[in-house]
Parts: sequence; C-alpha cells; structure tokens
Amino acid sequence: MRIATTWLCCCSGCHVSMLDLHERLLKLFEDVELVHCPVLMDVKEIPDDVDVALIEGGIRNEENVEVAEELREKAEVVVALGTCACYGGVPGLANLFSNEELLEAVYVETASTENEEGTIPSEGVPELTWRVHPFSDVIEVDYELPGCPPEPDRIAEVLEAILEGEEPELPGYNLCEECPREKREEGLIIPEIRRPVEGEPDPDRCLLEQGYLCMGPATRAGCGARCPKAGVPCTGCAGPTDRSVDQGARMLSTIASAFRADEDEVDPGELVERLRDPVSWFCRFTLPASLIPFRVDR
Ligand code: SF4
Ligand code: SF4
Ligand code: SF4
Repeated sequence: MRIATTWLCCCSGCHVSMLDLHERLLKLFEDVELVHCPVLMDVKEIPDDVDVALIEGGIRNEENVEVAEELREKAEVVVALGTCACYGGVPGLANLFSNEELLEAVYVETASTENEEGTIPSEGVPELTWRVHPFSDVIEVDYELPGCPPEPDRIAEVLEAILEGEEPELPGYNLCEECPREKREEGLIIPEIRRPVEGEPDPDRCLLEQGYLCMGPATRAGCGARCPKAGVPCTGCAGPTDRSVDQGARMLSTIASAFRADEDEVDPGELVERLRDPVSWFCRFTLPASLIPFRVDR
C-alpha cells in the first residue's frame, strides 16, 4: 500500500500529531510504502499510483487548489486530515476580511514591517483564492478526520481501518456525551455568561451550566473531553457532530434555548458585550464550511 501525505494552508500540527504515534507508527506502516511526506521525507514531486493520501490544511491559494487536484487524480482514497482540511479551521477566520485588507495587513501594516512604498508582492507567489475553503469545496473527499489537531489515537484508528479495507468510523455524537462533568438531569440551563478567566469553576459540574461558554453541545466527541476535564471550556476544535451542519448555528441555538437568567437581572448591553465577537466564539474552526462562510457586507 502506497501512502502520501501533504500539507497546504496549515501549521503542520496534524502531521506532528501523527508523529506522536511514536513506535505505533512503525507498526502501522509495517506493510506501507510512504511515498510522500513533507514532515519525514525530502521529496518534492507527488508520485503516481498513490493508494491513500492524507491532506492537511485548507485551501487558501491557487497552488493549494492545484496540489489538491493533483492528489485527487493520483490517489485512490483521499482523507482530509484535521479541522483546517475538513472545515477551513482557524485560518478560515480570514474570510471576515477581503484579500486586499489581508495583504495590506501582512505586507504593509504590521508593526515589524518596513515597507514605505506599500508594495505588495505579486510575482512568484500564488494568487489567493477569493476566500478560504474546506477541501470538499474543491475536490471529492472520501473521509474526514477533524480535530485541531486530531488525536493520535483517532489518526491510528482511521488509518488502521483504511489499511484493512474497512470504513473508518468517528463518533457522531457530541462531546457532552463523553464529558465526565455532572449535568442537570432536568436539562441545560445557563444562568449567566462568564469569561473563561472569571471566578473559579466548580471542578465537577458542567462548565456551560456555570456560565462558561463550552462548545461541547455542538462539537463532535472523540478527544475524550480533554479540555473540560482540565477545567477549560471546549472551543469546538473537532467541528460539528453528525447531527448538525453548522456548528456555530447549533451552539447559538443551544445558548438561546438554555439561557434562563432572571430578566430583571439581565442587562442586554452587558450580554452583548460578553458575546462580543460571536464568530470567533462559535465559528472559530468552521467558518468556511458554515452556512454563511464569509462576512456578507464586504
Ligand atoms: S487543524 Fe489545527 S493542527 Fe491541523 S493544520 Fe489546522 S491549525 Fe494546525
Ligand atoms: S463541560 Fe462542556 S462538554 Fe462537559 S458537559 Fe458541560 S458543556 Fe458539555
Ligand atoms: S475539548 Fe474541544 S477544544 Fe478541546 S480538544 Fe476536545 S474538541 Fe478540541
């Protein structure tokens, strides 16, 4: 079996997570020929006849599109590795700005840049696509393995399944179902909204019930509720569950239906202030794959 991996618009963290399999990776790749892997090999060209391709990172420029299309042509099975590949990921927040604004910020406005003429390079750099895209906007993807980065165990499970000719399966339910924190039997009630640094959360109770914006209800399980277990609200890095299309919209509707503060005590202005920048709260990892994937007024 010939496996190729590559990375596009990304931080390479998903590849590093794969390397975190350590010796297990050797066992996993015992009967595998690794033909392209930027984190392990110095091979520039993607060879023909690839059985499985793992692609990390979303689509941000025309070169990304070309590489994705080339891999699709050469590989039997394509796996989108990580949340950037599946949903656009954190780089997808760039969809809140125009390309002109982004280039100006990067090449002219940053504090450490010396560029008095305000020149923006155009030669030798690939043209930006008009917005960040998840992979599935550009090529057909066989399997998606979200997570920022995906847990090494999940990577191993998916690879093992594919190598054995089986369908890889991910948990389709939400993070709350694997979170050990105590939840109200009567259902979720959110009494107020607190910033992550405010107060001391009860170590055993659900963080959302204490007012901390935990994305658990709208996020795919699979990481073992790593963040809430450590006392930190989930930011939603594994993307939506099988039961929802848009992670941010699902979270907003969860909050809207569970918010029960006594109306006399709620100051709407304060509430809006606390939910300032809702896109970053609720769509941090999935904006390019959401129902409204960019700022509509630009
Ligand atoms: S999903 Fe996360 S770890 Fe993977 S490339 Fe994107 S930002 Fe990096
Ligand atoms: S802490 Fe978060 S993940 Fe855990 S039950 Fe509450 S909302 Fe769900
Ligand atoms: S708890 Fe949430 S943010 Fe943390 S690793 Fe799991 S899915 Fe990602």
